[in-house]
Amino acid sequence: MRTVYVNGAYLPENEAKVSIFDRGFLMADGVYEVTSVLDGKLIDFAGHAKRLERSLNELDMPHPDVLPDLLEVHRELVRLNYVEDGLIYLQITRGAPDDRDFVFPDPETTTPTVVLFTQDKPGLANSPAAKKGIKVISIEDQRWARRDIKTVQLLFPSMGKMMAKAAGVDDAWMVEDGAVTEGTSNNAYIIKGNTIITRHLGNEILHGITRAAVLRFAKEAQMKVEERSFTIAEAQDADEAFITSASTFVMPVVEVDGVAVGAGAPGPVAARLREIYLDESRKMAV
Ligand code: PMP
Repeated sequence: MRTVYVNGAYLPENEAKVSIFDRGFLMADGVYEVTSVLDGKLIDFAGHAKRLERSLNELDMPHPDVLPDLLEVHRELVRLNYVEDGLIYLQITRGAPDDRDFVFPDPETTTPTVVLFTQDKPGLANSPAAKKGIKVISIEDQRWARRDIKTVQLLFPSMGKMMAKAAGVDDAWMVEDGAVTEGTSNNAYIIKGNTIITRHLGNEILHGITRAAVLRFAKEAQMKVEERSFTIAEAQDADEAFITSASTFVMPVVEVDGVAVGAGAPGPVAARLREIYLDESRKMAV
């Protein structure tokens, strides 16, 4: 049984409780982060901590007292649960006032709810999917307009995964005004020649922590990076495609809406980026 963290306490998972009035539960009034663990160490913790603080600020959510100590809490959970490879999920909500109300509760009397738990994923960095590549379909992006804030409103992405499953593929890329925004839980990229193309930052996509690192490594390796939107037709005509996220790192995409991308198999550029990303991230893990 896992040991989880809830509001200052480390407890067995079946003893951890949150109020039915919690605004995360009633209103999706909460933010989250997922940090991967490789060899018992946290990958890019600083990036996740920075984005978390930004998400809280964008929603005028009070900072929980534990915020400065989150690295220690992450490390303690890794230790208590003997995590070698896996994920740490963290969620902060606006807390549980005495009753349901649309108006934000007074932060003096309602403090944020903080929950963290581990997910064991043995061999996370050696997933067979990385060798085979994944297939995606395109769907209309029907999420709210502040996708740059990492909120727990994951119903549409969840529906997108189900649409992909029903279509017999692995994931969906979301499209708005004819251009790809991102994957249901990852950022989307295509490669044409020596150029990596991925949507520019804005409120339309989550500012992926893996995205930032991968683009930095790509530039250091003299690859050309273009941050602009692209269409599904362009993706189908690309040499390679891939996604990035904290849990998939760099994952090749070999088919888009039934059309093979490039050779229909993982390509050399995505494979190299994956290797560089994993090597460099492991070196900097804490
Ligand atoms: N976009 C969306 C919609 C996501 O949910 C995620 C993963 N949470 C990402 C992109 C990738 O972000 P990161 O690299 O920080 O995991």
